[in-house]
Amino acid sequence: MQSNTCMERKIGIDLGGTSISFIDLYSPQKIIDERRIDTPCSAGGITEAIVNVLKDMLPLVDEKPAGIGIAVAGQVNPIAKSVIFSPNLPFKEEFPLGGIIHENLNLPVVLENDANSAAIGEKVFGAAKDIDDFIVLTLGTGIGSGIFVNGKLLRGHTHAGGEAGHMVIDPTGPKCGCGRNGCLEVFASGTAISRRAANETGVMLSAKEVCESAKDNERLQELLKDAGEKLAEGLASLVSIFNPEAIFFAGSLANAPKYYFEPAFKVARSKAFGTTGTNLRLEISELKEKIGMLGAAGLV
Ligand SMILES: [Zn+2]
Repeated sequence: MQSNTCMERKIGIDLGGTSISFIDLYSPQKIIDERRIDTPCSAGGITEAIVNVLKDMLPLVDEKPAGIGIAVAGQVNPIAKSVIFSPNLPFKEEFPLGGIIHENLNLPVVLENDANSAAIGEKVFGAAKDIDDFIVLTLGTGIGSGIFVNGKLLRGHTHAGGEAGHMVIDPTGPKCGCGRNGCLEVFASGTAISRRAANETGVMLSAKEVCESAKDNERLQELLKDAGEKLAEGLASLVSIFNPEAIFFAGSLANAPKYYFEPAFKVARSKAFGTTGTNLRLEISELKEKIGMLGAAGLV
């Protein structure tokens, strides 16, 4: 009998700096279980916690999953199934996360960077199913990107390509966590919006609070508009280089109000080189906050 790979059981794990999300599913419409735990503060603690949750989830249905996909907020080696570096996770040196989980559960394990996973999620489960050239930008604490070119995920020579958040927009700009000045993410990420709001209002507000308060606050509207214009600079460069058919926006800032997205969408097309911006689709991903878990499941 021919198997229907779309209806195989898959497990996706989104390993982030603050929480780890799990999804066990046949398809986004047929979910077996979802879990979320706080991220432990050591590499060993993370591995143990993931194995424990999976041991609890696996017996929920009789069918063995086809595999486990893990989206990691950091740089990974998908061949060695190891985490190489992550600014927000406690992996101080290359760590064989995928290998250890495989040894414990005897199931295939796939590891990928979280923004790349998000692009795979959009390709497998989202609006990019029939699109060969597209980009997913994850807008949250930082800015990540997953880039599909000619139907294939762009990985790069050391599996580290596609870091659009660290594209320099203005070399005289603020210092970025990566060591350079003026990267896109120091202007347009959630952290950037929160920091600028604190500087201008003297009150510590999260990016979510800035977005919620902007409706009645012109200063915050201006701040979001400026962040959106900076995002447009990055988008125009990405569009000029990759000439995508669509860019999808995911992450916590994907829910940002029009003050942020309007200037970004307006200028991105017109600033892109030649015809690269013609008929470009700019859309908020419908996979929303589940894109990380779904993308991880889509890796399987
Ligand atoms: Zn940077």
